[in-house]
Amino acid sequence: MEKHTVIAIDGPAGSGKSTVAKLIAGRLNFVYIDTGAMYRALTLKAMREKIDLEDAAALTELARATKIDLAHDAGLKVFLDGEDVTGLIRTPELTNNVKHVAGVAGVRSEMVKLQQAIGRRRSSVLEGRDIGTVVFPDAQYKFYLDAHIEERTKRRHKELLESGMHVTLDAMKQDIETRDTSDIERKVGALKKAEDAVVVDTTHLTIDEVVEKLLSHIRP
Ligand code: C5P
Repeated sequence: MEKHTVIAIDGPAGSGKSTVAKLIAGRLNFVYIDTGAMYRALTLKAMREKIDLEDAAALTELARATKIDLAHDAGLKVFLDGEDVTGLIRTPELTNNVKHVAGVAGVRSEMVKLQQAIGRRRSSVLEGRDIGTVVFPDAQYKFYLDAHIEERTKRRHKELLESGMHVTLDAMKQDIETRDTSDIERKVGALKKAEDAVVVDTTHLTIDEVVEKLLSHIRP
């Protein structure tokens, strides 16, 4: 099997991962894989089917019986059992529920398998929480992006306002802190810097500066 290049980008919400991963994938003509979108899509299905979010066995079964696809057509599109759910997976309510789904070992193993299958097909940029540690521990390039909580809050708040949703800055900060805690403390696939990851603090950097910094490691 031909070996492809994998670029792993991990970090907390609002660290700039998605924007940067997308731009780097575009520059290198790699596939961009938003792994958070997969957990979000499954959470949407669990909510629609009124599955008890504390029921790990039911969530695992749901993950096994669900088809999630990412398509790259004028931006990233997320398909849940063939339905385009791109516009439905970023509401604050759903965002707060993802932690239940993402904390289940059986769910994670299904998602990881899917992510590995996509990454093995073509050179890819994968972004998430556990890419450099669990999904592709042997990735050729690993980055861990971080930024101060205040800056991450401002970025996420702006994104939500731009997409027509309204939350206060305080509520946003609270949501991000809650998410950080559950991402860091969960027993499987926790948010963690891989030992060999390049750490980039994006607090005072523009998107272009972050992109150039990462590319300078990829193309020395
Ligand atoms: O990256 P994004 O904020 O869209 O991710 C949504 C949620 O999905 C995260 O808060 C995290 O709990 C979960 N996630 C995960 N593992 C990943 C990517 C995201 O658990 N690889």
